[in-house]
Amino acid sequence: MRKRTLPNYLLNGIIDLLFPNICACCSCRLAEGENRLCIFCRQERFEFAPVVYEPEDEILPELIAFRVSLWEFNEGGVLQELIHMLKYRQLYDLGIDFGLELGKIVQNRFQAGGWGWNYDPFLVPVPLFRKSERKRGYNQARAIAEGVSRRAGWGVVKKRCVVRVRQTRSQTGLNARQRKENVEGAFKIRGLKILEQEMPVIVDDVYTTGATTFELAGVLKNAGARRVAIATLAEA
Ligand SMILES: [Zn+2]
Repeated sequence: MRKRTLPNYLLNGIIDLLFPNICACCSCRLAEGENRLCIFCRQERFEFAPVVYEPEDEILPELIAFRVSLWEFNEGGVLQELIHMLKYRQLYDLGIDFGLELGKIVQNRFQAGGWGWNYDPFLVPVPLFRKSERKRGYNQARAIAEGVSRRAGWGVVKKRCVVRVRQTRSQTGLNARQRKENVEGAFKIRGLKILEQEMPVIVDDVYTTGATTFELAGVLKNAGARRVAIATLAEA
C-alpha cells in the first residue's frame, strides 16, 4: 500500500490550532489587531533597505530592465528564518504584507525610470512545480505578487499560463553553473502572448545568482517580452 502522509497545509492548520496568536518571527504573544507578526517585527526588526540594480551596476543580461530587492539577506539571521517560514508554513498573509512593501519600491522605480510611460507592467510569480505547490499548500512567490498587485494595481499572470514543467532540486549548495543547469528548460508559457508595450515583472522571495529568474525571463522573451524586470524580497 502507498504510504500516505498528511499534507503540509493540514499539518500547519493543526499547528495553528494548537499554538495560536504567536508572532511568526519572535514567538511573542500577539496583541489585538496583530496578525502573524507583532508590530515590532513588522516595523522595526528589519530595516527596509530597498536596493535597485540597473543593468550597468552588475552583469545583468540585456533583457533585464532593472531589478529591485527589499532587503539584504543575512545568512542564518532572523530574516532567513522568516523567509523559510513563508515557504513552508501557511503564511500567505505575511507574503502579501511583504509584497505591499515591495510594491512601493517597484512602482517608484517604474515611475523614476520613465518606464511607466512606455510600458504596461504585469506580475509573474516564479511558479512552483505543481506537486510541490500541492504539498506546500501555496506558492510564496504568488503571495508576494498578490501584495505587489494590491499596492501597484498591476495584474498577476494566471497560474496556468506560466508553469514549472519539471521538479528541480533546491538551488542551495549549488554553484552558479550548476544552478543554471538545474533550472534549464524548467519553465513553460502556455497561451500567453506578451504585447510589445507590456513588461513582465518577475516576483520571487530570494535572489541569489539570478539563475532562476534569468531562465524565466528568457522564456518570457520567447513569448514576446522586450524587457523584463525582477522584484524580490531579499537578495543573498
Ligand atoms: Zn515578533
